[in-house]
Amino acid sequence: MIQIVPAPKKTTFFQRDYAYNGETVRTSIDILLGEEEYILEVTSEDGITIIGGSEKAVFYGECTLEQILLQNKKRIRAMKIEDEPVFRYRGFMIDCARHFFTVDELKAIIDTMARLKFNYFHWHLTDDQGFRMQIDALDKLHKEGSVRLGSHFGGTHSNSKYEGYYTTQQMQEIVQFCAERYIEVVPEIDVPGHATAMIHAYPEMSCRGRKVPVETRQGIFKNILCAGSETTYEYLCKILDEMCRIFPGEYFHLGGDEVPKENWEHCSACKNAMKENGLESYEQLQAWLMNRLAAYLQQKGKKVICWNDALKGENLSKNFIAERWMDRKNLTLYWANSGRKVIMGDFYHTYFDYPYAMTPLKKVYRYSPYLKNMDIRGKESIEGLECCVWTEHISSNAAIEYMLFPRAAAVAQTAWGCGRENYAYFESALKAFKPIFKRNRINCAPQKDWNPLPHKRLGGVVKLLVTTLKGLSYQPKA
Ligand SMILES: [Zn+2]
Repeated sequence: MIQIVPAPKKTTFFQRDYAYNGETVRTSIDILLGEEEYILEVTSEDGITIIGGSEKAVFYGECTLEQILLQNKKRIRAMKIEDEPVFRYRGFMIDCARHFFTVDELKAIIDTMARLKFNYFHWHLTDDQGFRMQIDALDKLHKEGSVRLGSHFGGTHSNSKYEGYYTTQQMQEIVQFCAERYIEVVPEIDVPGHATAMIHAYPEMSCRGRKVPVETRQGIFKNILCAGSETTYEYLCKILDEMCRIFPGEYFHLGGDEVPKENWEHCSACKNAMKENGLESYEQLQAWLMNRLAAYLQQKGKKVICWNDALKGENLSKNFIAERWMDRKNLTLYWANSGRKVIMGDFYHTYFDYPYAMTPLKKVYRYSPYLKNMDIRGKESIEGLECCVWTEHISSNAAIEYMLFPRAAAVAQTAWGCGRENYAYFESALKAFKPIFKRNRINCAPQKDWNPLPHKRLGGVVKLLVTTLKGLSYQPKA
């Protein structure tokens, strides 16, 4: 039995062995195959061949072969693997705003993700607690917006300065590193909420125009960008211009989650914008802001993604791809059923900032991206799925790797293979994947932590609630 993560679509074994002596694997491209489809053959006559629909598909064949060779050093059972993914978008998101991870730390994660056949790295680069990319046209963003005077997240309380941003060169290095592994970087600038760090650097982007400190706590904050001010758009377009130069990929994420609208209610510029554009609610005002930015990005050939919160504005452009994370009103379902694109994920299944006690491996493995009442059109509207790791509670590289692995492998299985019926196989295949974790020095969670027993689960969830409440109730000194 050959164990591969994610499991291939179809494997046929033959009654012969093939003696492998480390000779070259023959690869070729057949454009009649799908862009990510490959056929891997091990035969006693012809050795090992990989035929892919593109160079990317050949790479996936090589990733599969790597796992086979790790399990069979000399003699390989003759076989034919015919494989292609179910979903074209297989993403992982890392929040580098709450905590900063170095280029080398990211590379180890990215390389491991590539072996699991992920193909999109959604890079969350801005938030209330830090703006983490160099923007030359508005350099206070990275010079001042990347520094906060303490960190009071979850169980962590520190009054030490915390800072860090990626230089243009470092971001280009990540883009290149990803491209070599057929991963596209999807950059995110989160607007109009989660923007405290931006407003700290340029208060004129907010309704009140007042300087605010970069946030040191976790939560949802009312300092949001002013939707009625032309300065906001002018600045944002400058940022988007630079981001588009650094990130050449097809997708772009504009955020749009958790936007408390109080400041807009008291802002004459915001009210004027509503009046002039016939907008009936603040949700529509948010959608109008996001539509303007999306139109700007679409001129540059981008496909624009937003978190599902932005769907509350009925006027949101139909071209947006909605990323689902928490959606009590089920707006993503209607969005998909009406033929608009969605990326699936779920707070309770694919958010890996939460402990194994809350989200055990088996639960992730069983996650279905198909919502109840999703019709055929809705299912066809799913671009793919994504797992996310937010880092309010995660301050070290060892911790983020522990939270991501092996749970990301379960998402890879669903995104690539959509097979969720054989957990025992999946677990044993994970053991075979271990040398790849080891090679990349990944701090994968040990098997005993993957599926905690019920009493440990309860204890873990209570602990999480206590530390979260402690963090949320922290009051900074005036
Ligand atoms: Zn305003």
